[in-house]
Amino acid sequence: MADRISLLPDHVANQIAAGEVIQRPASVVKELLENAVDAKADSIQVIIKDAGKTLIQVIDNGIGMSTTDIRMAFERHATSKIKASEDLFNLNTKGFRGEALASIAAVAKIEIHSRTEDKELANLLKIEGSEVKEQTLTTNPKGTSIAVKNLFYNIPARRNFLKSNRVELRHIIDEFHRLALAHPEIAITFFQNGDDISNLQKASLRKRIIGIFGRKWDTFLVPVEEQTSLARLEGFVLKPSFSKKTRGQQFFFVNRRFIKSPFLHHAVLAAYEGLLQKEHHPGYILFLDVAPETLDINIHPNKTEIKFEDEQSLYAILRSAIKHSLGIFQVQPLIDFDNTTNLDVPYDYKDRTAVQPNLEIDASFNPFQEKYIQRDVKKSAQWEALFSHPEILESNPSVERLELEMPTTPKVFQLFLKYIVCALPSGLLLIDQSRAHQRVLYEQFLGVITKDRAASQQLLFPVAISLDTTQKANFKEIEDILTHIGFQWNPIQNSLLEITAAPDLVSQDQVEKIIEEVLFSEQEGKKDANSSMADKLAKKMAKALAIKAGITLEIQSQQQLIDNLFGCKETSVSPFNKRIFITLEKAEIEQKML
Ligand code: ADP
Ligand code: MG
Repeated sequence: MADRISLLPDHVANQIAAGEVIQRPASVVKELLENAVDAKADSIQVIIKDAGKTLIQVIDNGIGMSTTDIRMAFERHATSKIKASEDLFNLNTKGFRGEALASIAAVAKIEIHSRTEDKELANLLKIEGSEVKEQTLTTNPKGTSIAVKNLFYNIPARRNFLKSNRVELRHIIDEFHRLALAHPEIAITFFQNGDDISNLQKASLRKRIIGIFGRKWDTFLVPVEEQTSLARLEGFVLKPSFSKKTRGQQFFFVNRRFIKSPFLHHAVLAAYEGLLQKEHHPGYILFLDVAPETLDINIHPNKTEIKFEDEQSLYAILRSAIKHSLGIFQVQPLIDFDNTTNLDVPYDYKDRTAVQPNLEIDASFNPFQEKYIQRDVKKSAQWEALFSHPEILESNPSVERLELEMPTTPKVFQLFLKYIVCALPSGLLLIDQSRAHQRVLYEQFLGVITKDRAASQQLLFPVAISLDTTQKANFKEIEDILTHIGFQWNPIQNSLLEITAAPDLVSQDQVEKIIEEVLFSEQEGKKDANSSMADKLAKKMAKALAIKAGITLEIQSQQQLIDNLFGCKETSVSPFNKRIFITLEKAEIEQKML
């Protein structure tokens, strides 16, 4: 039998290797940014088109590459950063594997300009799918500019596998944030489809954080600092009152490299013990510096995981240093166990005054309205329709079994400040007030968004909201729809969005909450990637505006809510698919009494 084994051609080997290093546009962004930092740039520009699918360009003012180096850079295992295996234990650079450029070149079209300080002319190199197409001299400022075009153009399966622009862009922005936080001493700008999404000057860490996440963060940052023989810790944790139900912003850098360590995360959580509400996550941006030889960053190809020599001690250092900082800044425990009267009230509402029904439901949204106009004074209880309109009953099999009787006055009361109990001749309806309201608002908003242009009102005072990079990018995407539903704003300046008009349904003091909710893409984006933008927006607005548990509702508001609920197209589940009400029939009650 003939010999069958041969070495893979380089471009094939590179393509295979690329699979490990380059998973999506964000991986390219990460590698190019790291190379720019390693090249000692103090100013970097990132230019993205179509969430990196069409173009990723990184321009730096670093040391550049010589004519030979620019060619060498694209060979596999070609690096200027280590020479021998000992160097692995004394790393001061981000890169060291010499794989990134070779991998990118295998799966994209690359054009690179680079000039070193001592040369007049720059080198230009064009590569497509590992093949050098052109190398010449050209002009370029000192430093390097790499443009990566049509990523995965030669691997359709990979290209098709990429997620929506929104998702890919978010991954890119994540990488951008990580690097920008790790290097506040570098000026860095970010353009997406020609829009200047982020423009960060050299700054202190604190200013950098605010530059990225918005001014609001300023008051929530608690500095952490600790120096021991083992490690140096610095950075910020966020006040517990700023904690979120979503994971949010948690950044850990070890020797300026972003890492994920469940272990260190746990240490931070331990420091917050007793300070966080249930299911809330703390935010932090922490930098741990240890002697390079005490850690092994080589255990994961994407290098976001890390192994420490002395984890236990690091854990203790972190925990106590953060605890100390939270203590110094007099962060009080949030849960006041002495206040028994409020035990049932979720934290959000603890400090609010009890009666705040704020249930302005637009009467014009009422498919049964005409009937009511004719039916004069008798209190229009929409839920009566529940008992007289077969189509509603059809969609609510659970209600069907209730006797069909026209109730006189609905007897309602609130239970646990969470449910509205409605007594009917045939049994009880137990309605979740928040979900019911979400449903009502959702259908209102959806009607407005998908049909006509909504009425809008000028705000008395413009509402200023500071946006972070992700939010700014998201905002661009929903501008049209926001206009359609009645929002208006001034051109964004310095990351500040000034809302000047809002839909009629939204009051002045709700504007900020709504916009933030809508721009906070993190969780919902993934769950219902299929639903339309309008639908998502309607959901988010409904969620933001709906009354929550813990709010006392006056009898009238309770009745009105039930009214409006049963005027909805769908009455049994909330926009998030949660059950809105349950019924307890007479027979069931009597059964229980046996
Ligand atoms: P690594 O960063 O692991 O060394 P890369 O494939 O990312 O591997 O880069 C290969 C080499 O190309 C680097 O070691 C460096 O010498 C050179 N290089 C890459 N990007 C730049 C840049 N922006 N400026 C200067 N040199 C660069
Ligand atoms: Mg590199």
